[in-house]
Amino acid sequence: MAGLGGTIARWEKFRFNPPPSRQQLEALAAVIGVEGDRLQEMLPPLGVGMKLEPIRLCGACYAQSPCHKIEWQFKTATECDRHQLRLLSECPNCGARFKIPALWVEGQCQRCFTSFAEIKIYQKPLRFTQKDDLVSE
Ligand SMILES: [Zn+2]
Ligand SMILES: [Zn+2]
Repeated sequence: MAGLGGTIARWEKFRFNPPPSRQQLEALAAVIGVEGDRLQEMLPPLGVGMKLEPIRLCGACYAQSPCHKIEWQFKTATECDRHQLRLLSECPNCGARFKIPALWVEGQCQRCFTSFAEIKIYQKPLRFTQKDDLVSE
């Protein structure tokens, strides 16, 4: 099991470079009780880069399932397909940047304590997407 701690630490920060080996994936899968293949699916597809900053979030997703979704950090991700909402990268109430998801213990903004499930009301629907939205990102 040597080296697994490092894998988990990198995973928490989305440092998939180098990506975990198949062996590490299997070991990690055994620890958390899921299939290695399932875990592999959580990694970015080959050729899709990750963006570590800013951390992005769909509050509507979070309300349904309180965990960070890896696809929000794909370089190309700006919206949630499921909810047709733009992702947020900072708290809409106080403007604080979201912390890395490994620290989302409470599921709320670390500064003003607005819950992530609540922020969905601030997310802009895709059909209202304006040019200046894209620029401000
Ligand atoms: Zn969503
Ligand atoms: Zn806040």
